[in-house]
Amino acid sequence: MVFPKTTRLALLGQAVGDAFGAPFEYHEQGARMARRSLNEGRYLDACGDVGQLSRWARLPGLYTDDTQQALALLHAWRTVPEPLDPHAVAARFTAVVGSMYDTWLRGARAGLHRGTGKNFRSFLKHKTPVDTAGLGAAMRIGPVATLLPDLHTLLPWVVLVSRATTSNPLGLASAALYAAHCHAASRGITEGLIDRLLVWLDSPAADALSLPREVWLDLLRAIGVMETLGESDLLEFAAETGHSSRLLKNAADGFALTGVPWVLYHARQSESFPEALESVCSSGGDADTVAAMAGCLAGLRLGYRAIPTWMIDDLVGSQGILEPEQWDPIHSEQHLTEREEEYKRETRHRRSREFWQDVGLDTSPVDAAGDDDPLRGLPASDDLWTEEAPLPSRPEGDGVRHETEHSEPVAASEAPGAPEAGALSEAGVLSEDDLIALRKDGAQLDLFS
Ligand SMILES: [Mg+2]
Repeated sequence: MVFPKTTRLALLGQAVGDAFGAPFEYHEQGARMARRSLNEGRYLDACGDVGQLSRWARLPGLYTDDTQQALALLHAWRTVPEPLDPHAVAARFTAVVGSMYDTWLRGARAGLHRGTGKNFRSFLKHKTPVDTAGLGAAMRIGPVATLLPDLHTLLPWVVLVSRATTSNPLGLASAALYAAHCHAASRGITEGLIDRLLVWLDSPAADALSLPREVWLDLLRAIGVMETLGESDLLEFAAETGHSSRLLKNAADGFALTGVPWVLYHARQSESFPEALESVCSSGGDADTVAAMAGCLAGLRLGYRAIPTWMIDDLVGSQGILEPEQWDPIHSEQHLTEREEEYKRETRHRRSREFWQDVGLDTSPVDAAGDDDPLRGLPASDDLWTEEAPLPSRPEGDGVRHETEHSEPVAASEAPGAPEAGALSEAGVLSEDDLIALRKDGAQLDLFS
């Protein structure tokens, strides 16, 4: 199958945006880090540059779950006989991401998925959609949206495909509206989209989807509020609608009603690709997801040459992004995930060694990778001495209405084929339970001896 240039451009824009925002996802200094990354012309290191805990180590320049899912959707499109049949694509997508989840890799906690949110992991585990109004459905839809022939085909197609993973009307409608903007950008359409959407809303095809009309209208209103009044009014509007059951810190907080308008505004108003990425990260929040979505749309709008060269050159796994014949995540993601897991192990060992040396225990003669490594099995120092749970600023979702799709560590017991909770893993990574026990009982530091 020959894919148009716009699909490849959309995927590239998404991948570089994803890799750009990943190091400072939900970090309080996200805006400053976005500027630094652009100033220095490189993808940041989540630990070394941003100061994240070592459990958040990521291979700089590697994209995350957002782009992995976009790849899985493209793979589904090209491998089903009738890609315009949303049920066939949804079934293939589910099978592909399920295979990725079931692939065991040393140290990897969600198979070949990198940085998945807990809602998506729940879907992978139970094979049933989750009632989430996060950005999960929208974040993967941009590239494939460029392949749909027209708006009337696209809108129901996106809703029906997205129902594989989410049952929430806001999650579904937001994905369709974002996809409509990507589709329009891929055709060079800059005006009249909202009017066409309003006309479609009155059609029998819209009725057949059984999504509340008010949800569509609230999303369109939110887009208008963001464009005319700004972020604080958008947050106020979102709270007034009653769709959100928690207080939002910012528009990029992983909630579809604010996240999609926020992304659309910055991707459409920015005069350059870097400006789109920086501005969409300016309030912190779910940086990799909003940067991935803005990167996809801004890439379509501004073109290939607008993407800085360093972002393409330093993108890990760029061949798998640039060449459609390699859009096979079951194949391509294994090597990348192995590389990232190795990077995580190295980071944890390095930071542990630095910590223990700081407190007077010189471990320098020991090969960290060797079997006799005394640090093996110890938590990284920053995890060990952090009193609070390591992500107090990350939203704790209620799991029902508007769960974010941000990535967070997966409990060891949740991983396919993983060791029992409470046991030291082969990779020397402690489970959440182990860490809690260690914090409560310093005596367990005898592990060191
Ligand atoms: Mg992500």
